[in-house]
Amino acid sequence: SRRGLLYGSAGAAAVSLAGCGAGEDSAQLTGFTGISMPTDTSERWVIEGKALEANLKELGYDVIHQNAKGVVEDQIAQIQSMVGEGVEFLVIGAIDNTSLGQVLADAKDNGVTVIAYDRLILETPDVDYYASFDNYQVGVLQATHIIERLGMRDEPGPFNIELFSGDLGDNNSQYFFLGGLDTLESFIYEGKVVIPSGQTEQEPTATAGWSGDVAQARMAELLAEYYDDEDTELHAVLSPYDGISRGVVAALVEADFEPGRGGFPVVTGQDAEAASIKAIKDGTGQTETVFKDTRQLAHTVTGMVKAIVDGGDPEVNDLGTYDNGFKFVPSLLLEPVDVTADNYVEVIVESEYLTEEQIDAGE
Ligand code: BGC
Repeated sequence: SRRGLLYGSAGAAAVSLAGCGAGEDSAQLTGFTGISMPTDTSERWVIEGKALEANLKELGYDVIHQNAKGVVEDQIAQIQSMVGEGVEFLVIGAIDNTSLGQVLADAKDNGVTVIAYDRLILETPDVDYYASFDNYQVGVLQATHIIERLGMRDEPGPFNIELFSGDLGDNNSQYFFLGGLDTLESFIYEGKVVIPSGQTEQEPTATAGWSGDVAQARMAELLAEYYDDEDTELHAVLSPYDGISRGVVAALVEADFEPGRGGFPVVTGQDAEAASIKAIKDGTGQTETVFKDTRQLAHTVTGMVKAIVDGGDPEVNDLGTYDNGFKFVPSLLLEPVDVTADNYVEVIVESEYLTEEQIDAGE
């Protein structure tokens, strides 16, 4: 089988180089790293690509850094050429989690250590490490915000909620969605939470490319189809990512919901993008985001590369959550943080992630 074949050939190389870390092989490593980022429409990936590149260069390592801008074939070609250039490490934020098997098999044949950056890469034995945040917890924080904001534990309801999930090709989407759904589950069983569209699965709620426009169109359709009569209120929208949240808010505004006044649905988010923090601060749209300190992630991954170059093993803190279809990939998971108008100054501004000026400018 394909699985057996890959295990037998390329898989073995992974063990000698990355698995054991120390030894003669690693003594010759120079830290030459290829960074492959997935998109430039969501601001975090651009910032992190640059941070990673700077961190690695500061250690004296050579770096090739590319962003595939949402095109899977380009990402494969870019990685292929990095392998051709002789990188020793690949740090990859995948566009599509199942498209990289072949190019990673080639990378393995060349002794490259592969680190899945933020998004796990599936259906290949050739991923050595995974560095991300606790993705399930992201969904828990988002749903908990809705529960608290609507006072769901004390109020009788029922509360009408619609659900959005991320791109189906991104392994993280299911974790965000599951964390959210599990947190809402008891309220749904009780009848306190109602989902008028009936769309509670990952597929109908998915947002291709994490696109705000796609989300805006779906929200507009939901409003037209299920909220047409004046009596059906919409109380909240579970949204997994700020870009999606802003699309959802645009559709709500278009349909005459007025942000900042009572009655505007609670909308969640993720990534602490400037435009979304501005809306949270000014009360003009979504009321929450989940902050993942991506500087810390870039720092962590730099540390992983350095540990291997220095002949040791990188630090991990989770060995049994992220199964990629071949194995549980040793993972290092950081903690996401819930952000609202109450704590954005402390979490976002005081940590120097964004300045008040950047927030006010929304960029
Ligand atoms: C990341 C999120 C991000 C989303 C869209 C996910 O893989 O974990 O932080 O919001 O991609 O870029």
